[in-house]
Amino acid sequence: MSKETLNPLAIAQRQVKNACDLLGLDKSVYELLKEPMRVLEVSIPVQMDDGSIRVFKGYRAQHNDAIGPTKGGIRFHPDVTLDEVKALSTWMTFKCGVVGIPYGGAKGGVVVNPKELSNDELQRLSRGYIRAIMSIIGPYKDIPAPDVNTNMQIMSWMIDEYSKIVGYNSPGVITGKPIILGGSQGRTAATGYGVALMAREAVKRLHLDFKNSTVAVQGFGNVGSFTALNFHKLGAKVIAISDVYGGIYNKNGIDVEKLITHVNKTGTVCDFEGTTSISNDDLLQADVDILALAALENQITSVNADAVKAKIICEGANGPTTPDADKILFEKGILVVPDILANSGGVTVSYFEWVQNLMNYYWTEKEVEEKQEVLMVNAFNAIEKLASQYKTDMRTAAYMISIKRVYEAMKLRGWV
Ligand code: NAD
Repeated sequence: MSKETLNPLAIAQRQVKNACDLLGLDKSVYELLKEPMRVLEVSIPVQMDDGSIRVFKGYRAQHNDAIGPTKGGIRFHPDVTLDEVKALSTWMTFKCGVVGIPYGGAKGGVVVNPKELSNDELQRLSRGYIRAIMSIIGPYKDIPAPDVNTNMQIMSWMIDEYSKIVGYNSPGVITGKPIILGGSQGRTAATGYGVALMAREAVKRLHLDFKNSTVAVQGFGNVGSFTALNFHKLGAKVIAISDVYGGIYNKNGIDVEKLITHVNKTGTVCDFEGTTSISNDDLLQADVDILALAALENQITSVNADAVKAKIICEGANGPTTPDADKILFEKGILVVPDILANSGGVTVSYFEWVQNLMNYYWTEKEVEEKQEVLMVNAFNAIEKLASQYKTDMRTAAYMISIKRVYEAMKLRGWV
């Protein structure tokens, strides 16, 4: 089934407008929130292994800093566009607002397929990107982190470049670092752990039994693999998983731990022993209780929303459901746990990492997980309550709560 691809910025703007209208806010509030407050576009020259120079396009968008410094990941992908980075930075502002952490949103991106680069080329690009955006980032200004196709190694090169330029070790400028460089316990698993926690809360609301629930997970990178692993650990049955190369299915459940070993060896979930292969479209329409989306934007659209059979959609990815699809899903009674809540575990533990860096005192994994669970479950309850009060979906309620916080901060500062 073909899908429609919408401009993510147009989607983000529709979501923000909808909540601003419901809150009855002055139009200046939407005018200020519909675009990032600052965007930097950079050209990054990188010496390739053969001695030639290739110039890569990069962006950093800082959406709003009324509540605190801006925060958001860096994506390396050939399809990165300025509008995508702007949209992702917008979603970050409201994600931080949902869990009540003192940040605004930001996002960065470089137009590159990192799989085509050697390790040395990737390192030079990562360092070059930091040099290019150096003037607008910092532990009290804007704090990057990993996103699609960036990882701890890339964060390590970036933190090293930043620290060399400022002349001292500055771990608080980037989160998602290895533990030895000041990373937090629980950060790598945090987004997927949070997705599974939020699905668990949604299952309670529908009076289903989590331990007898079936799950399909789209995407098996950082978010997808830890989502699947945590579903498995919490007792639900993961029966379908996909990645960019295809999907796998076993109605009796997939052994996620063994699958991770298989993916580490082969680079894909495909051809995992004891499973049959399915397409990504099949996975989105699988007959399961929970569909966890952990790949990219525009996966559930007006074209395929009607075919979704899951009772709950939990958005690990950013922007996987379009506004038209949202309407269809709401009418069908499918509970959508929106991205800005469902995947907020990543930024929540990034915030914990930053706090630990600033005080130079580190917590145990148990402490981190407990603090994450409290923030996310409280946020889920508040959003769910407002959604039933307004008879609306959880996405709209999440934006309403978050926009109200940002609005209050902007009003006190005299911006609106
Ligand atoms: P990743 O690069 O580690 O993994 C992406 C996964 O999606 C891979 O398994 C890839 O094969 C798969 N994929 C790509 N295109 C696909 C397609 N068309 N169909 C099926 N699978 C496809 O990235 P990630 O860090 O796991 O991020 C995934 C999503 O979660 C993104 O939307 C990202 O913005 C969001 N997110 C990530 C974090 C984080 O902490 N990493 C936090 C919040 C949100």
